[in-house]
Amino acid sequence: MTPQEHPYPAIENQPIIHRAPWVVADVSSEIYGNTRGIIEDGAVFISKGFIQAVGKYKDIIKEFSGFPVQEHECRVLAPALINSHCHLELSYLDLAEPGKKQSTYTHDPTLWIRDLLKARDSFSLITPDAEKQILNHARRALEFMSAEGVGFVGDIGNSLASRLIGQGQSAKVFFLLELLGMTKESEAQSLARLEKLFSDDSLNISCTAHAPYSTTPVLMQKIKNVADRQGHVFSIHAAESRQEVEFLQTGTGHFLEFLHERGGWDNSFTAPGMGSVHYLESLGVLNDRTLCVHVVHVDHEEIEILASRKVKICLCPGSNRFLGSGKAPVTEFLAHGILPALGTDSKGSNAVLSIWREMSLLREDHPGLSPETVLSMATRGGAEAWGVDAEMGTLDPGKQAHILTVDCQDNITSRQDVVEYMTTVGESVQVEWVK
Ligand SMILES: [Zn+2]
Repeated sequence: MTPQEHPYPAIENQPIIHRAPWVVADVSSEIYGNTRGIIEDGAVFISKGFIQAVGKYKDIIKEFSGFPVQEHECRVLAPALINSHCHLELSYLDLAEPGKKQSTYTHDPTLWIRDLLKARDSFSLITPDAEKQILNHARRALEFMSAEGVGFVGDIGNSLASRLIGQGQSAKVFFLLELLGMTKESEAQSLARLEKLFSDDSLNISCTAHAPYSTTPVLMQKIKNVADRQGHVFSIHAAESRQEVEFLQTGTGHFLEFLHERGGWDNSFTAPGMGSVHYLESLGVLNDRTLCVHVVHVDHEEIEILASRKVKICLCPGSNRFLGSGKAPVTEFLAHGILPALGTDSKGSNAVLSIWREMSLLREDHPGLSPETVLSMATRGGAEAWGVDAEMGTLDPGKQAHILTVDCQDNITSRQDVVEYMTTVGESVQVEWVK
């Protein structure tokens, strides 16, 4: 499976050297004290859409003398950002618009799901060409991300039409169709749909599961099995709220009431009596191609399981803040050798789909986190989560030339200034793509 075709980078470009006062080559190496990750007066040599060499300008110009040099004054060269969790098809929503009371959903996340479903239904009712408008909103959201320097989006959707959102767009999109069902009937329907999609090569569709509280164990295992056979990421919302954990541990609470109310409950599901990660582990769906999203409410043992299974984690600080879900234990993840990725989630729970903003929110939430770590999450962490680290995530020879130039004004005088600026600038960032 490969991500959908995209026109960037242009492979017909002539070989060229890009020079800037600062080049962020591999910021994660700076975490371990290797100061070659951020290069002062650096340069990147690009040919045929690929990075051929990265280093000090004086060394690059010596090795590749005669090639044209493009100067990027007062700018930082950096790898493209990666948005590892989004639902582009919900971009027509504005549930998280600024001014909305952000604590509304803290005590009952199903109130938010109800509002989301209500907003979806009324949009479809009052919009004559709703499906087309949904795709238009989604494409505009994707264009916004791309203009902000996002080169790859992990996109989850419930509609088959959403697989078309990334077509012809400059950012790469890997689309996963999300399946769910908690009754025997809905499980059978989703299994039949999975089988049909799996056997229809012309569709080239990859499926994933929604969450442990919305998807039966059999359905989750079957979807994971197909994902492993197809070799793509299995992304699942996990341990997002304490109410999710309560439901799995005791079989009671707001989620049970909600499922009853929606006709999504037939008593066939038995609560496993354990937390989300313990439960996913018991089903055998955790491995290095599993991407757990949110992962806020986990205990120490569960973090050890995630680390030992080499599970990928995606944090969504903006969405967690809006829904009052809590803060993920980032420091513990890092201590266990897990470098999480970052995602915006959707316009249903985040006013702005900006990875720059997610970085600044994460730093606000966790003042002890180093800026190098936070920038690594938005680049290398995302690339590793989606298995595209051979082509993205760092500026290394052999990778594709998905390179940003970030306006840093002239107040940056050290590598510390670079990472500080990149992880706090938020939405006011000024970005261009190296062409
Ligand atoms: Zn989500």
